[in-house]
Amino acid sequence: MQAIDTLTPCPCGNTDGYARCCGLLHEGATAATAEQLMRSRYSAYVLKREDYLLATWHASTRPTTLKLGSQQPAPTWLGLTVQHHESEGDHAVVEFVARLRYGGGKAQRMHEISRFVREAGRWYYVDGSFPGA
Ligand SMILES: [Zn+2]
Repeated sequence: MQAIDTLTPCPCGNTDGYARCCGLLHEGATAATAEQLMRSRYSAYVLKREDYLLATWHASTRPTTLKLGSQQPAPTWLGLTVQHHESEGDHAVVEFVARLRYGGGKAQRMHEISRFVREAGRWYYVDGSFPGA
C-alpha cells in the first residue's frame, strides 16, 4: 500500500492533494461530474487501482481484467491536462491529454476524447477516441 496521504498534489494535478480529491472517489464517493470521474480514473491508473477502473467502466464496454500489474513495459504516468468537458443530461465527453512514458522510453502524449454516461446517479466511462492518432 502506498502512503497515499502524502500524495500532494493529487496524481490528477489537483494541488489540494489526493486525500481531498481522487482519494475520496476511490473510497466510494460519487463523482459529481464526468470530469471528476475521468480525473479519478487517471489517478487510479497511476496508483494501479484496477478495481476502481473496472467499477467505473460501463458494463457494455468493460474488459474483464486490465492486468495493470503485469503490463510490460510498465507505463509511468507523468501528468494530466483536461482540455474540454461537455455534458448534456446523462451523457458527457471529456477531452484530455495524459503524458506517460513506457519503461525507459521517452515521454509521449495520449490525447483522448472519452465518453461517459450517467446511470442511477453514477458516471461511467464508456469508451474513447483518439483524435489525430
Ligand atoms: Zn485528483
